[in-house]
Amino acid sequence: MSNLSPNIEIVRHGHHRGGFQHVLFDFDGTLSLIREGWQQVMIPLLVRTLQSTNTRETPEELTKIVEEFVARTTGKQTIYQMIGLADMVRERGVEPKDPLEYKREYLDLLWERIKDRIHALESGEVAPEKMIVPGSYEVLELLKARGVRIYVASGTDEPFVKNEARLLKMDHYFDGMYGARDDYKSHSKKIVIERILKENSVPGHALLTFGDGYVEIENTKDVGGVAVGVATNEKTGEGIDEWKRNRLIQAGADVIIPEFRDAGTLVPYLFGED
Ligand SMILES: [Mg+2]
Repeated sequence: MSNLSPNIEIVRHGHHRGGFQHVLFDFDGTLSLIREGWQQVMIPLLVRTLQSTNTRETPEELTKIVEEFVARTTGKQTIYQMIGLADMVRERGVEPKDPLEYKREYLDLLWERIKDRIHALESGEVAPEKMIVPGSYEVLELLKARGVRIYVASGTDEPFVKNEARLLKMDHYFDGMYGARDDYKSHSKKIVIERILKENSVPGHALLTFGDGYVEIENTKDVGGVAVGVATNEKTGEGIDEWKRNRLIQAGADVIIPEFRDAGTLVPYLFGED
């Protein structure tokens, strides 16, 4: 690979290439930017909740703990993050609320942040291209052209994922869209991956995953698939977010990209066509 774009960083040289039949995408931060900034909603909410236990920790100390926690759980269903919050409250000697209650508070606050974006997409005032990770349509087209099946697995509630994929005009690319459900134990990215492999009787190395979270990268590596870390700077929509990049490498990503702008080089590389 002499002419690979400088925007494609090979972390694990010698990872296998080609032979993929199933491709999994995380949704938020990987394809969709609608929920950009959710961390800036969740982190202060968790810090405030922990402060309300009258802990002696300073807001700075709590912020550090919470940031670490959110980073580690990015990609998991929101409810698990809220169960973690309840545990942290309990560790500080206070009886927590029901995690579902925390989840509702979080979703209400998040809705305040994203509702204008949703409405602008619904009315057509903003084009979907403005709210996707650059190059998303291109990478999906190139994958579809190779005859693979494409899925979305998200920790966001399933009805939101489906609606947002429709608003972003990318739902038709997917052979399955899986998100969180009320019955949260029945869903996880790990379960989705296992089901895809089992139902299609294919080995883990037939799986290619794109994600910006720890969870999907780790789950993919666990079954022997290839994982591409999408370290998009969600604020600007281009370039690498160094913090995400480091996290994704720690999780085991084989390749790191800033977004899909170089999909035309990336996909042939991944499929070993050069
Ligand atoms: Mg994500």
